[in-house]
Amino acid sequence: MDMAEDTIFSKIVRGEIPADIVYRDDLVTAFRDINPLTPTHVLIVPNETIPTLADVSADDEAVLGRMLRVAADIAAAEGIAEDGYRVMINCRDHGGQEVYHLHLHLMGGRPLGGMVRR
Ligand code: AMP
Repeated sequence: MDMAEDTIFSKIVRGEIPADIVYRDDLVTAFRDINPLTPTHVLIVPNETIPTLADVSADDEAVLGRMLRVAADIAAAEGIAEDGYRVMINCRDHGGQEVYHLHLHLMGGRPLGGMVRR
């Protein structure tokens, strides 16, 4: 395996380091954020490493769609769908991305307020 693909999230996908996994299938894995910012804070990642949203191609459309549908399903299972929630992808430096393995943040369980602090 290319070591460039060996992110902390790929190790979670492969079961090499522990995580509180809430869902997995052939394309994506979802687990609770280790440092939750909201009562529900789940990360949904592709099983195959894509470093950032800026790196996706047409071949990735199925996995990107799966990530969003799984986010909606997990939100329903977590009981936050009715009140609402936020999904967020940080991209590269200005986006504040820390882990270079594409991931979608599912956040909810309280009002989240405005989107970006001025
Ligand atoms: P981002 O800033 O969008 O790259 O978000 C990275 C997220 O990954 C942060 O919210 C971290 O708390 C979370 N994180 C880092 N390491 C782990 C881990 N081992 N298990 C679960 N979440 C993690």
